[in-house]
Amino acid sequence: MANKVKRIGVLTSGGDAPGMNAALRAVVRACKYYDLQSVGIRQGYEGLINSDMIELGPRSVKNIINQGGTVLKTARSAEFRTPEGRLKAYKHLKDNNIDALVVIGGDGSFTGANIFHKEFGVPFIGIPGTIDNDIFGTDFTIGYDTALNTVIEAVDKLRDTATSHDRVFFVEVMGRDAGFIALNTGIASGAQDILIPEQRDSVQELCESLERSEKSGKKSSIVIVAEGEKLGGVYELAKQVQQKHPEYDIRVTVLGHIQRGGSPTCHDRVLASRLGIAAVEGLIEGKTNLMAGIRSNKVVFTPIDEAIKKHNEIDTELIKVANILAI
Ligand code: ATP
Repeated sequence: MANKVKRIGVLTSGGDAPGMNAALRAVVRACKYYDLQSVGIRQGYEGLINSDMIELGPRSVKNIINQGGTVLKTARSAEFRTPEGRLKAYKHLKDNNIDALVVIGGDGSFTGANIFHKEFGVPFIGIPGTIDNDIFGTDFTIGYDTALNTVIEAVDKLRDTATSHDRVFFVEVMGRDAGFIALNTGIASGAQDILIPEQRDSVQELCESLERSEKSGKKSSIVIVAEGEKLGGVYELAKQVQQKHPEYDIRVTVLGHIQRGGSPTCHDRVLASRLGIAAVEGLIEGKTNLMAGIRSNKVVFTPIDEAIKKHNEIDTELIKVANILAI
């Protein structure tokens, strides 16, 4: 297909994730490599609405591959959800001669781009940037691996103090709708139990697991709780277990936003670099309404509707692994 794209706008939108900068760098450098221009749009869709943009070249993205967060900044733009807001955005896009967009973000950001395309025909390719790993069409989202490593580093530290005081630690990790962070970090940090939104758990089962661990000689335990588990939240869970077992010395730690920050891991930097280049190449080939992702270590494109609507399933083998190791 003939290359009509000459000038690509790139933005980061929704929640930030480590590796977004590496993706931005790859988009900008791929544009230069293929003789296209690139424009950075600040604050997600807000930057389109307010015409807050910056010309980018290979040198303007130096020294950012190792930085967490996003140098373009990100936002949740309420105005872009309105037809008036999107019309403003389109006008500014045209004023700045931008032919196509690369949208680095989560499913909300892709939904916005999809609607924008339906209204104004602006080609776009999405890059999955979110720590939750909850986007269909890719084995890994950018930022997920870094978040996993941040969590296990923190939980390893909690284990030191849990062991010294014979305590039970309830640790809440991010994942409002998905338990990927909880399940994987739970296995990697040797958690006694892992509670995730995808599984039906009960306080009774959790207590039995802790009792088993006590009987087997364990003096301290870690319980990893995903934000979105269905039993009322980490504090409520801890309270209910404490009521059944007043003898337990229970502590709660909510890891919170530290999981979003930090220098991206090698895995995230390489993933972001590959997807950034793939997105530009896709636009050059005339592709649109797709998400660039990674499957079995190969770059693949998934229709954006599928990426938005479908969900990655939790691997039941991982649940088995967690259960066996918590014996
Ligand atoms: P995360 O997974 O980190 O939450 P996200 O991309 O899903 O990232 P959202 O806040 O859901 O984050 O979406 C980001 C932005 O995309 C919104 O603030 C809004 O500007 C735009 N957006 C989302 N849904 C729509 C929609 N239905 N119509 C227009 N724009 C939308």
